[in-house]
Amino acid sequence: MVNLKRPEALAAMREAGKIVAEVLALLEEHLRPGITTAELDRLAEDWIRRRGATPSFLGYPPDSPRPFPASICASVNEELVHGIPGDRVLEEGDLITVDVGAFYHGYHGDAARTYAVGAISQDARRLLAVTKGALEAGIAQSRVGKRLGDVSSAVQRHIESQGFYLTHHYSGHGIGANLHEAPQVLNYGHAGHGIPLQSGMTFCIEPMVLVGTSRTRVLSDHWTVVSADGSLTAHFEDTVAIMDGTPEIFTRLK
Ligand code: MG
Repeated sequence: MVNLKRPEALAAMREAGKIVAEVLALLEEHLRPGITTAELDRLAEDWIRRRGATPSFLGYPPDSPRPFPASICASVNEELVHGIPGDRVLEEGDLITVDVGAFYHGYHGDAARTYAVGAISQDARRLLAVTKGALEAGIAQSRVGKRLGDVSSAVQRHIESQGFYLTHHYSGHGIGANLHEAPQVLNYGHAGHGIPLQSGMTFCIEPMVLVGTSRTRVLSDHWTVVSADGSLTAHFEDTVAIMDGTPEIFTRLK
């Protein structure tokens, strides 16, 4: 866990988060039918390096036989998470999830957004609103006096009350000097259970939502996770710290 009482640690976590937020804004600006996910990856990597950081996901996890080969995850439509950028061309009506991590002065920031490419269906718009709402519901519980299960339960209730599905296979996580640290931040759970939340904790809340099923599978590239029924998916994530008892979102521009 990061010691945010060390001013240099707090400053680095905030800056890592800010770089991630800048990349998300940059990618959103460039989204249009005709752009490839590899072009988005190049834009992201260039910005991260220009800011003196390195992409957290490139080569992750180290010492693995199949480390992630790009700087961002780019997941289209039925792809839920961990899509590998490539020559896929975005089309009008697609949903594109970009997940971005930056490592700056020893600390990570990590966030994801699902964006619409051009005009999308009303169902797709509702999916985006519910997934973003689930993230906001989790953040609202991220305060002293609450427990981790309050965060998880708020995310779950927001998703399931709207008739959408979540997966039990992927979750949020603590973050700091390591991209993934304890505690695991599940997208389902029981209010009033789990560890008590304390000032100085930093973690990623990341609801992943599916329209038609809770089942997922991994493609033969060993990374891309898709909905088992091919239905649309969305994913929103922010890096959050509990500061003086209340949530501060590191991965949004002020
Ligand atoms: Mg994450």
